[in-house]
Amino acid sequence: MFIKIIVQTKFVVVLGALMSGMGKGAVVSSIVQILDIRGYKALPLKFDGYLNYDCGTMNPYRHGEVFVLDDKSEVDMDFGTYERFIKKDMTGDLSLTGGKLFSKLIEKERKGGYLGKDVQIIPHLTDEIINYVKGIAKGKKLDVLVIEVGGTVGDIENSYFIEAMRQLSLQEKVIFVALTYVPTMAAVGEQKTKPTQIAFRSIMNTGINPDFLFCRSENEILDNTIEKLSLFTNIKKDYIIDDSDQQSIYYLPLHFEKQNFGNNLINKLNLEEKKVSKSKLDSIKNDVGKILGAKENVKIAVVGKYVELKDAYASIAESVILGGAACNTKTEIKWIESEKLENIKNLDLLKDVKGVIVPGGFGNRGIEGMINAITYARENKIPYLGICLGMQLMAVEFARNVCKLKNANSTEFNPNAKYKIVHLMTSQKNQRYKGATMRLGAWDCKITENNSIAYGAYRKNVISERHRHRYEFNNNYRKLMEKNGLLISGTTPDNMLVEMIEWKESFGIGTQAHPELKSKPGMPAPLFKSFINACKKTK
Ligand code: GLN
Repeated sequence: MFIKIIVQTKFVVVLGALMSGMGKGAVVSSIVQILDIRGYKALPLKFDGYLNYDCGTMNPYRHGEVFVLDDKSEVDMDFGTYERFIKKDMTGDLSLTGGKLFSKLIEKERKGGYLGKDVQIIPHLTDEIINYVKGIAKGKKLDVLVIEVGGTVGDIENSYFIEAMRQLSLQEKVIFVALTYVPTMAAVGEQKTKPTQIAFRSIMNTGINPDFLFCRSENEILDNTIEKLSLFTNIKKDYIIDDSDQQSIYYLPLHFEKQNFGNNLINKLNLEEKKVSKSKLDSIKNDVGKILGAKENVKIAVVGKYVELKDAYASIAESVILGGAACNTKTEIKWIESEKLENIKNLDLLKDVKGVIVPGGFGNRGIEGMINAITYARENKIPYLGICLGMQLMAVEFARNVCKLKNANSTEFNPNAKYKIVHLMTSQKNQRYKGATMRLGAWDCKITENNSIAYGAYRKNVISERHRHRYEFNNNYRKLMEKNGLLISGTTPDNMLVEMIEWKESFGIGTQAHPELKSKPGMPAPLFKSFINACKKTK
């Protein structure tokens, strides 16, 4: 039997009209912040219609970066946006995918949970969804749960999520927010509402009438555009919100506040109006001020294999901006496809940059180009920051060119390499499943050397960062590499795994973790801040 949970929580459901990739995550995060500055306890929850259990097995090239949480969950990159805006650590239960949902349903069916019934999308799957969100709302004692429905209305993948939200609105207080795009034809200079009109036909077919409409656009939405949109969408003019490009996305909550969205939302949710916390508002203003006020310009290179899709490195790009803002620096990233650097003539591409980052990645393509970039940085004393794969390759490069171990490699790229500098841990060797089996989530690292870049950055002896990788620095080479001048500045507290390595001659640090995943405005990842500071000094 379906047991109906009773909750005190109200719900805001955010739907994408027209197309994806418009910044729904930023709208959801802003809504949570707008509630938070009024003292309401709110969290985001994301529905993703794909049938993968989680994002762990997806290609960043197609789907954007795989974000990792402290609790080991491999989630959608929107969680990066949530955490950076909301400045709280999220948990994996805030991500509900089609894959998780169907496995739950089928497991229940096998156990006899639906004996005698033919299991159907409506009501069984939709009831599961409703129960799930109510369970989260209740378990986390939320005033408001802000739900982001991945994809666009009209997709088959998310249709059962949307139907469940319609049903939820018959049981609980639910406010619907739609996000649309309003293009401007350059030649005519007119803001076009027709795409939104057409998208609303699909939305209305779902039986949902959105309460608010957020409009993405290059320029501010004009009054007559709002009037037209209001007419066709049945949404009051005051509830149509301009979501045009801002100089910094972190300004969005303030931009929405200016349009009285916060108070209107509170009213719609039948929540009591509360005073906006001045200190919380000031903190947002302060963060934005630092980003926009940064003076000095620094250009750095990111040498990676997924550069064609910027979303694949979303947290890296944000961490560079945030690390720069913390030292009054406007940063520019030069994205370099690593395969190009396999031809050393192309190393000229690095001539105009003040620092090099090699980010995380998997698989063979472009590896030698990354190694060439690292050699270039080391020999020319250009600051280097290696992240995960970037740390492993920093070790390989050092082994090859400083320790003279010819063709040293990671067994990921050459399983038969004579010098296996990076290899699989025994626990990984017998792993048959690919999903959720890497070294994942938050791991402590002990900074062993106080006179190190690592200590200079963190100013602490035990730190915690998030991980997502299968391969590790091979301990058999620790002594030899140290003898040749490599500094092992961080290990797991039990000293079993190498976490951070450094050059001594110039600024160069590699970390096995992904510090970019915890970088937030006003709280940038320490290594990124130190790296940008070092880049500022590059001649
Ligand atoms: N491919 C490497 C590993 O699995 C690095 C992973 C990463 O950069 N996230 O260990």
